[in-house]
Amino acid sequence: MKRYGVRSDAGRTLIERDFAHQADAAEAPDLLVERFTEGSEFDVPVSRAGLIFSISAPSGTGKSTVAELVLGRVQNLVRSVSLNTRKKRSTEVDGVDYTFISREEFDRNVKEGNLIEFAEVYGSLRGTPKRPLQLNQSQGIDTICIIEWNGTRRLKSIFERTVVSIYLMPPSIDIVKQRIVARAQDSSEEIARRLANIEEEVKFASEYDYCVVNDDLAECVSNVVSIIKAERCRVRTQKMEIGFG
Ligand code: 5GP
Repeated sequence: MKRYGVRSDAGRTLIERDFAHQADAAEAPDLLVERFTEGSEFDVPVSRAGLIFSISAPSGTGKSTVAELVLGRVQNLVRSVSLNTRKKRSTEVDGVDYTFISREEFDRNVKEGNLIEFAEVYGSLRGTPKRPLQLNQSQGIDTICIIEWNGTRRLKSIFERTVVSIYLMPPSIDIVKQRIVARAQDSSEEIARRLANIEEEVKFASEYDYCVVNDDLAECVSNVVSIIKAERCRVRTQKMEIGFG
């Protein structure tokens, strides 16, 4: 007799839930650690939980471009679309780059518990919607979150084993400063805040699992793709429990 179930991690207490049918176990929307099937010949889990790749970088490093190219090269990988109260730039698409909302709407989302993490960055609020992340995790779909160090810390503290943090480092501080000014997409006040923050921000790189320099774009993208592929091959990720008994 086969047993289908999920193991989820509520406040670090491992909870197991059994299901009569494999399809029900596959749909369970909990904060999933793994799905499993017991009683099959080799006792191998049916799938793995989706990983979260948390990518951070100082303003102007080109993280959105890198993420977009990575998404185009890796299957089973989606991007988390954050809520954002800042003014939309002319180059951004609402619902794709961010979901742009008012502060009131943002506050309502916080109150209703719809965000897994949020932070005030350069005078406006940004946050990661909880539900899509949970669904991706439970369906074995990997997610890229382009968020700053605060959010990465928070995701690590919640999901721990399934978060991989990648810091994109600009080739030099001067180059990103030039890019932020040349981009001319933000108010002069916001540009000044971004410039003033860069030196502080790069110090957080030491907390990350990986650091990739975005000097040559193609090489940077290829390195991030390699990290994602390697992380997917980890035994820890696959929760391989092959039984021969
Ligand atoms: P920007 O205004 O340049 O798009 O974003 C400013 C900073 O906010 C970037 O470092 C970006 O990664 C970060 N950010 C974007 N979305 C989120 C989010 O949902 N949560 C957190 N913590 N940071 C975010």
